[in-house]
Amino acid sequence: MQITEIYKSLQGESTHAGLPCVFVRLTGCNLRCSWCDSEYTFQGGRKMTPEEVWDEVRQLSPNGGLVEITGGEAESGLWSGFPPKSSRSWM
Ligand code: SF4
Repeated sequence: MQITEIYKSLQGESTHAGLPCVFVRLTGCNLRCSWCDSEYTFQGGRKMTPEEVWDEVRQLSPNGGLVEITGGEAESGLWSGFPPKSSRSWM
C-alpha cells in the first residue's frame, strides 16, 4: 500500500463527528474531481504493508476506536489487503 499519511484527529463528518479517529490516507487516485482538496495525495507517500499500517494505527489508538481509510480511488485496488486479518481482534 502507498500511504500519504496516518494521523489521529477528531472526526469532522458523519454521525461520528467530534469523536477521536485515526485517519489512514492512501496515495494515488486516477480521478480528477474538480472539487478535490487532496491533490497532494496523487503522488509520493511511503510504501507500507497492511500490517505496518495497522501497527501504526494501533500505536495511535491502542484501546481501539474509529479508523477512517481515505484517499485513493475505491475501485482501483489500492486498498487490497487492508485491514489485515490481524486487525480483527482490535476492531
Ligand atoms: S481524491 Fe477524492 S476528490 Fe480527489 S480526485 Fe480522487 S476521488 Fe476525487
